[in-house]
Amino acid sequence: MLDWLWSMSVAEATGFFFALNILIVSGAYCLECIVPRFFKTAPQNLQHSSLELLLMTCTVFVNAVISVAGWLLWKHGYLQLNRHAGVLTVLRDTLVLVLLMDFALYVLHRIAHMRWFYGWAHYLHHKYREVRPLTLFVMHPLEALGFGSLWVITLMLSAFSFESVIIFLQLNLYFGIAAHCGFSPYPKWLSKTMAALAIAEPDFHLQHHRDETVNLGFYTTIWDRVFRTNLR
Ligand SMILES: [Zn+2]
Ligand SMILES: [Zn+2]
Repeated sequence: MLDWLWSMSVAEATGFFFALNILIVSGAYCLECIVPRFFKTAPQNLQHSSLELLLMTCTVFVNAVISVAGWLLWKHGYLQLNRHAGVLTVLRDTLVLVLLMDFALYVLHRIAHMRWFYGWAHYLHHKYREVRPLTLFVMHPLEALGFGSLWVITLMLSAFSFESVIIFLQLNLYFGIAAHCGFSPYPKWLSKTMAALAIAEPDFHLQHHRDETVNLGFYTTIWDRVFRTNLR
């Protein structure tokens, strides 16, 4: 796959990353439509305002542009990927990426909640109290640019294994969708296990949408516990 990505022209890579990001948001939309049929507690209102649709479109555009920028940085040697990593290296790199991004996103999220940034950008993500999978993509374009840039800068810190980058992107999508599904789809025992392991379950971010002063973490509950912003 890496050879295929490497061989692309700028136009082909642009087309590929735009198509990929449209596919991702379409998948989230399908989930939003299907899930209420299986879970009675899932949000049943599937209407989206024109502002939501506009912000989602902007986020897809920004994410695709960031992807192309990352691809260009890789092509020009500013971002390197390890193509020959063993299983242990892949696991280590995945863990490092999750922990690094979790901390960086926590810090960025706390900054986003400072009065000036909140009134300027982050309030748009909190405008819709009833979250649904597509709410993940409802944010100010500059906020999407900030999150995307953080990801590319993190990748430039070290030559992470290609597989760990793919695994991280899947995990990131899972956590983002799960956090915005609007209900807790897991059985109690699984929720309790995740809480005990400091892994953020869907309810964790849902509480943040209900009380914006708590639960600012993304993948883990570690930083909310450390900085005492968790719901107690
Ligand atoms: Zn949210
Ligand atoms: Zn927030």
